[in-house]
Amino acid sequence: MATVKINHVSKVFSSQGTDVHALNDVNLELEPHEFVAIIGPSGCGKSTLLKVVAGLDTNYEGTVKLDDDSVTGPSIERGVIFQEHRLFPWLTVEKNIAADLSLKDPKVRKAVDEMIELVKLGGFEKSFPKQLSGGMSQRVAIARALIRSPKVLLLDEPFGALDAFTRNHMQEALLDIWRSNKTTMLLVTHDIDEAIFLADRIVVMQSKPGRVKKIIPISMQHPRSHTSTTFLEYRKQVMEALSESEQPEPAYSI
Ligand code: ADP
Ligand code: MG
Repeated sequence: MATVKINHVSKVFSSQGTDVHALNDVNLELEPHEFVAIIGPSGCGKSTLLKVVAGLDTNYEGTVKLDDDSVTGPSIERGVIFQEHRLFPWLTVEKNIAADLSLKDPKVRKAVDEMIELVKLGGFEKSFPKQLSGGMSQRVAIARALIRSPKVLLLDEPFGALDAFTRNHMQEALLDIWRSNKTTMLLVTHDIDEAIFLADRIVVMQSKPGRVKKIIPISMQHPRSHTSTTFLEYRKQVMEALSESEQPEPAYSI
């Protein structure tokens, strides 16, 4: 469990003489075991923000803290999951999960077995990534991050490449993991329903410059039904916040 504190974070990319304000004075705090989803149009700085929190990008203004420690680089305290699973194709499922830990160590062996059970991949320990479906590969990636007991899990559109059925299944799996591991979650998604289904709060971002537009708390019990009146009300609220964030159309002149 952890508190993430993002304070006055700004980030400018300069290329070929033009400045892109990817993040402009972003402030956000995550409570321990909170599930926060970030949503916003393409290019509004979602991935940039996640990389900053992950410590994968340290060239920015402002501060990011995990509990009271400044984030100065990548750390096993912060697990990162991307849209593509980034598994090692030449390693089996169990070796991908263990990564640099030795499976000969009985403690590692036990932890890997527990992870395989948690992500429901029993029977696939010796399979290679090319033998797995997209959803299974993402579950391996999640297990690989979780085995290091991260305080925070950072997910950048992790289910974006999966079909709708698998995506729903993975959302349920993620909720189970969140409950059992008490991890703090920061999830980037472009899927409004996914954000409402999972999150305690939805951060709506806006582009040019990338910034926080609105924060919408979701106070619904789990399990959440996609078709309940409350769910549909939240969907309307998020869609309105997103459309408010669009640039106004230029007026027509005839
Ligand atoms: P999102 O994930 O919300 O789609 P990004 O965080 O990837 O947005 O990008 C935010 C803005 O920063 C975009 O305008 C993008 O073109 C720009 N950007 C991202 N990464 C780089 C980079 N390495 N160099 C230059 N510009 C970048
Ligand atoms: Mg992105």
